[in-house]
Amino acid sequence: MGKTLAGKVALVTGGSRGLGAAIAKRLAHDGAAVALTYTSSPQKADEVVLAIEAAGGKALALAADSANVEAVKHAVAETVNTLGRLDILVNNAGVGAFALIDQFSMDEFDRLIAVNVKGVFVATQEAIRHMGEGGRIIMIGSVNSDSTPFAGISVYALTKGAIASFTRGLARDLAPRGITVNNVQPGPIDTDMNPAEGDFADGLKKIIALGRYGQSDEVAGLVSYLASPEAAFVTGANLKIDGGFTA
Ligand code: NDP
Repeated sequence: MGKTLAGKVALVTGGSRGLGAAIAKRLAHDGAAVALTYTSSPQKADEVVLAIEAAGGKALALAADSANVEAVKHAVAETVNTLGRLDILVNNAGVGAFALIDQFSMDEFDRLIAVNVKGVFVATQEAIRHMGEGGRIIMIGSVNSDSTPFAGISVYALTKGAIASFTRGLARDLAPRGITVNNVQPGPIDTDMNPAEGDFADGLKKIIALGRYGQSDEVAGLVSYLASPEAAFVTGANLKIDGGFTA
């Protein structure tokens, strides 16, 4: 049986660790050539590339801070120049900063908006210049866009709420071109950003219906489906994958 993404090219922002690394590997497993960006972990990014190549796939690591407009534009251009086209953009790169509103600094606010919102806008605007019929934009948002079960996450939630709204609007803009736009909204997933062990995690597990954190591979499976031709009728959707965290 042919691979679902054979002949396709994907760009995954923030693909050196966590969810992005799992998504890059899964899309490559499904047959796509994959470019991935990183900011601070060149070695981890290289490890993802090597793992994909060792499994017979094609991959490319690109240094590109999502907060830097020119760097993001360059990453999209490099993807197309090196891998020949662009069919799938996964806007995964994201940062968290957690504090009550009266303690939240303006610098942190600007950083979250720059990476989690502006970076997504720029990558999307650049990527669609190269996408044709069957193109896929996949956001990694968060359940926190419409559920904030504890204090201190208001600004992070604001950025992920923006992504949910952006997804719906973009789905309308891009449907005439045959490009779908969807937002994967994970609950707690075991990564460097949100490790599954520790006091904080123990508190969260109590409100996750399944009683455990999700794994990056589980989120990558949903992204893989949305990227596939089978998901052609899914667009403008905000899809939770949270083990019943918000049930
Ligand atoms: P990690 O912190 O584990 O990994 C973040 C990844 O994004 C790394 O590859 C990192 O690169 C990259 N990155 C960070 N900042 C930038 C930047 N400015 N420019 C480019 N790349 C950047 O996070 P997760 O894997 O947990 O999170 C991935 C996405 O999933 C984020 O959007 C997050 O908000 C979202 N999410 C995560 C949840 C969770 O529970 N883990 C739940 C809901 C949503 P480098 O290695 O170079 O630093």
